[in-house]
Amino acid sequence: METVGDAGVIHQADAGDAAYDFVVDDVSKVFAGATRVQALSNIDLRLKRGSFTCIVGPSGCGKSTLLRIIGELETATKGTVQINVPQSKTPRSAFVFQEHGVFPWFTVLQNVAFGQQMASVGKKEREQNARRWIAEVGLTGFEHSYPHQLSGGMRQRVAIAIALLNSPRLIIADEPTTALDVTIQGQILFEVQKLCRETGTALIWITHDLAVVAGLADRVAVMYAGRVVETGSTADVIGHPMHPYTHGLIASIPTPESRGRPLMQIPGMTPSLLNLPRGCAFRGRCPRATDACLAEPQPEQVRPGQWVRCWHAGGPRNP
Ligand code: ADP
Repeated sequence: METVGDAGVIHQADAGDAAYDFVVDDVSKVFAGATRVQALSNIDLRLKRGSFTCIVGPSGCGKSTLLRIIGELETATKGTVQINVPQSKTPRSAFVFQEHGVFPWFTVLQNVAFGQQMASVGKKEREQNARRWIAEVGLTGFEHSYPHQLSGGMRQRVAIAIALLNSPRLIIADEPTTALDVTIQGQILFEVQKLCRETGTALIWITHDLAVVAGLADRVAVMYAGRVVETGSTADVIGHPMHPYTHGLIASIPTPESRGRPLMQIPGMTPSLLNLPRGCAFRGRCPRATDACLAEPQPEQVRPGQWVRCWHAGGPRNP
């Protein structure tokens, strides 16, 4: 039995699962159409109220599929998602995509008030709630503006107000700020995290840019080819990456020290989920690969709360 603290990913049965709002247990997903896609394999994830988990990984590694399963938009082929949140009038989870749900023909106030149509509250209360959330996301004064009169960052704030106003227990953000400039991304992320902490909402943020969330997320889960290959507190994963893929990701973030020098690149391509190689999916690109990697690595705990799927996780830091 193993627990990892307030939020995040574990890889063993946990007697305290009832303490988590969302428990993803050994989830796999196969899309079996004309071709068979093994989108997810044996994912374990635990989320607690008020926590902030970042999921990072290359395009096509299964991040969105996982979040659709947690958000009850998709079913798992194997494994379970246990949601320890009572069904009520409000949704258990809400998604934020880029400018998702912002109608161009509605003003900001109308957009946010419309987001509560399903709630059984009167028009006046809907408008009061809408004004409160518009203020919370920093848009006071823009209630009567139309989306085309706002900047991209402001429209994103409207989408966030719509996601938050029905008090979901989980916000699932799928790269919502990628189109914005980095300073605005950081600002919005900071404010969303603050609001989630205050309201006890768990937050999952998908990104391919680890640098954006590095200072804010409590935990990071690194995905590769349908698996979580490394997870732990943000400080551990960024400060002491143990999987060679995580190491490559972090080494490719520009820093003042890397100025004038070529950034590290991970050679090769992500394998196709249509035809995964035997054993470790990263072995074709991995400088540490040996014959051991022809067998599937099992999760290993390398320090409290930090888990890695790599036969050579204890190996040299700089492969
Ligand atoms: P990511 O979010 O990391 O980019 P996705 O979860 O969108 O990855 O996709 C993972 C894999 O699952 C991809 O190979 C994608 O083509 C496949 N996939 C996703 N949704 C479907 C679907 N509805 N039917 C068939 N394949 C799908």
